[in-house]
Amino acid sequence: MAREAQYKRKTLSEQHPPIWAPWRMDYILAPKDKDAGARPGCIFCNFPAATASTYRENLVLVASEHYAVMLNRYPFAAGHLLVMPRKHVAHLSELPEDDSARLFLAVRDVGERMRRLMKPQGLNYGVNEGVAAGAGIADHLHVHIVPRWGGDTNFMPVIADVRVMPEYLDDSYRRLHPAFADLEGAAPPPAT
Ligand SMILES: [Zn+2]
Repeated sequence: MAREAQYKRKTLSEQHPPIWAPWRMDYILAPKDKDAGARPGCIFCNFPAATASTYRENLVLVASEHYAVMLNRYPFAAGHLLVMPRKHVAHLSELPEDDSARLFLAVRDVGERMRRLMKPQGLNYGVNEGVAAGAGIADHLHVHIVPRWGGDTNFMPVIADVRVMPEYLDDSYRRLHPAFADLEGAAPPPAT
């Protein structure tokens, strides 16, 4: 029932999505980890904290002292990144001032690096605070950065099949990795 309600809210909030992303339905309808909100089960806490050999598998590009950068496993567009503070907080207002500043400097830097590498015609920056606002993981604040191109629905058929997503995500990971390689906490270079 609760999941139905969540689905309903998602549907309402996504009535005018920027891009049709059918694979997201699998995610929206999938059972959520009950512990996703708690620090022990939080992937935004655990993936950056894990050994660097797991970064590629978990799509972690950067795990610095104060923030992390990950590819979104359920992207709206190619190169859809997430930037999150290492502190497990749900709300912007819970971040101490210093951490807020560091997070948004990181967001600015990541967006700029993405702009240089991918040369998108535009970037969406966004925070969905709370499940009703569309947050998939509502308990750990994260900022979405989505590169956009005019008419970018045109390339979506290439990645619009959920069965190709693992390969697509690994491709994106290898393509984006060099743009962040010089940062503190950067993931080790992918072997291939
Ligand atoms: Zn967390």
